[in-house]
Amino acid sequence: IRSTTFAGRAVALFGLGGSGLATALSLREGGARVTACDDDPARMRAAAEQGIPVADLRAADWSGFAALVLSPGVPLTHPAPHWTVERARAAGIDIIGDIELFCRERAATAPGAPFVAITGTNGKSTTTALIAHLLRAAGRDVRMGGNIGTAILSLAPPAPERIHVIEMSSFQIDLTPSLAPSVGVLMNLTPDHLDRHGDMASYAAIKERLVAGAGHAVIGVDDDWCRAIADRRRGPLTRVHVGEAGDGPGILARRGIVVDGRSEPARPVADLAGIPSLRGAHNWQNAAIAYAVTSRLGVTPETFAELIAGFPGLPHRMEEVGRRGRVLFVNDSKATNADSTEKALSAFRHVHWILGGKAKEGGIAALAPYFPRVAHAYLIGAATETFAATLDGHVPYTRSGTLAEATAQAAAAAARSNDPEPVVLLSPACASYDQFRSFEDRGDRFRALVQALPEG
Ligand code: ADP
Repeated sequence: IRSTTFAGRAVALFGLGGSGLATALSLREGGARVTACDDDPARMRAAAEQGIPVADLRAADWSGFAALVLSPGVPLTHPAPHWTVERARAAGIDIIGDIELFCRERAATAPGAPFVAITGTNGKSTTTALIAHLLRAAGRDVRMGGNIGTAILSLAPPAPERIHVIEMSSFQIDLTPSLAPSVGVLMNLTPDHLDRHGDMASYAAIKERLVAGAGHAVIGVDDDWCRAIADRRRGPLTRVHVGEAGDGPGILARRGIVVDGRSEPARPVADLAGIPSLRGAHNWQNAAIAYAVTSRLGVTPETFAELIAGFPGLPHRMEEVGRRGRVLFVNDSKATNADSTEKALSAFRHVHWILGGKAKEGGIAALAPYFPRVAHAYLIGAATETFAATLDGHVPYTRSGTLAEATAQAAAAAARSNDPEPVVLLSPACASYDQFRSFEDRGDRFRALVQALPEG
């Protein structure tokens, strides 16, 4: 996408990771004079090699810049860009991100182009991928990106028949003042990530902006914060309920069945039981929201029911990575806290559970109600002794040390067990940094270890 909104003007850009670089190139192609900066000299050099002018913006004269463009993934609280933000504020110029550039381009070239923006505390990526899958399988021209996958300015430009499905973090919403999606989705709000946003009220206010500007809003109303936002909404709105209480006109996901309650009588649309990629009650909300969005965009209930069964799911989130005999292997490496792991444990009955890493505050004590589902636990990484103390007397465990050791031990024990459906589950309830580069790295390692297990 060429970003023409700053044609002929000077723009400062901070952050030259993948999407920062894409932003710089897009601005340059659109005729802006970009000066880019990063706190990593190697990235500065790489950008210079692509013909992007780089400079130490600390020394620059800020009065000449029309805007500061911050790269996604550079949090405002990060010390390095902090001074860039201060300079930009002092100069009185806009501080924006790449999604703002997309919105301005859309407004200028294809104002009615379908644009779905998705935010929430949990389930954003799954729901974004599910919506994109459904629309694509229904034969539509779909481009997915933003916080998930591809940088938005690396996608094809907005067009009347092309649907952009974009996941947004709070940080990205903050940097997008003209955000006005045709469909805006707010899934849920829980007090996560408050370290980055201060208090819950300001966190919720940022998220509310995404639906406030939307032509049509889809809001999951199972928590108090989102329900209040839905109640304040004046424009077109679809409410999505998962809980039993507060049923009303809207979309429901009751006990795993998506129900369209907007007409009388309410109409059951799809049964989620038996769709492996949508296992677990938390996915009911994701599926119901995807139904609300795709039905706005013309997908019929019959088509939805048919296509949702083919959703492949996302890697590292309850991902089935193999079977050996009766034993199923599940990679849930994305579960970096007890809350996420709770959802994984609740989906199975006879679990050989691999967990550990760099523990979060609170540890795994909150998971005690699920301990009866655990046949055996295999502890890895720095959290080993803390977790051993919590499990002691409740769950048999082994200090496995490494993921390779844990996988081998769990596979052998599960194969020996008498249960008809034993599961080896990697759901660490921990960050990965003590032993791996990222949760993706950890999950990829596990998948490779499972694939290397002998057949039979
Ligand atoms: P995000 O992109 O918001 O981080 P993901 O789709 O990657 O969310 O899901 C991450 C984890 O969050 C999942 O593994 C699951 O444990 C949990 N989760 C997914 N959907 C929901 C939901 N609708 N409500 C609560 N938790 C969820």
